[in-house]
Amino acid sequence: MRRPFIAGNWKMHKTVAEAVDLAVALKAALADVSTMDLAVCPTATALEAVSHVLARTNIGVGAQNMYWEDSGAYTGEISPLMAKELAAYVIIGHSERRQYFGETDTTVNLKLKAALRHNLTPIVCIGESLAQNEAGETVAFVGAQIRGAFAGIAQDDAQKVVLAYEPIWAIGTGRTAMPEDADRTIREAIRNVLCDLYDQATAETIRVQYGGSVKPSNMADFIVMPEIDGALVGGASLKVEDFAGIVKNAAAALKV
Ligand code: PEP
Repeated sequence: MRRPFIAGNWKMHKTVAEAVDLAVALKAALADVSTMDLAVCPTATALEAVSHVLARTNIGVGAQNMYWEDSGAYTGEISPLMAKELAAYVIIGHSERRQYFGETDTTVNLKLKAALRHNLTPIVCIGESLAQNEAGETVAFVGAQIRGAFAGIAQDDAQKVVLAYEPIWAIGTGRTAMPEDADRTIREAIRNVLCDLYDQATAETIRVQYGGSVKPSNMADFIVMPEIDGALVGGASLKVEDFAGIVKNAAAALKV
């Protein structure tokens, strides 16, 4: 049984004061949730303050990105050692990082290795564009992203990774994948490839979130799918009632 995991990606939103307010409200709203893992990923500037608010609660904290070297002349970057001081999770290879900041399967692989080396739990994002989806290339493309991300990663480390399948055309657009389509892509492009790279047990151990315009009203449709283990939530994670609604609706649908 894979434990459900719902994480919020706050992207480049919220000043420190605003982030603290949201964290305080989420801490109260979600205090009674014990059947799934929860996390929020604030901007780097708000990580310290939010990690103080959420210390010793059921809500973990994640960074949205990091570099792969431990230290050095890399202006503007934060290292895994720095992320680890403030966070337990790190998002790697979000499609916005790939689209606007030149991240590739190679840099994702370097960052994934760095996260695992420093005991950060990585949330690795993969997903196809609309053009790839319409051309019927989804399984080949996402499968190749998985092979690139996991290159050279040992089986025991691979089992610690969380994946977020996020069709790019569903991110921030209000348009979601059909739950059945997302479920099939996860099975064919992710679990089958992981089984090929490692084995069936590893493929079935790794948690896979769905991401792309998740909101309270559609969470249940995704979470009941056999291959979907939770969600990575962008826009709807910025409002306490929406994120709490997503978590509660997921718990209700799973009867946990
Ligand atoms: C995301 O940023 O990972 C995401 C899925 O965004 P949204 O929920 O806004 O589509």
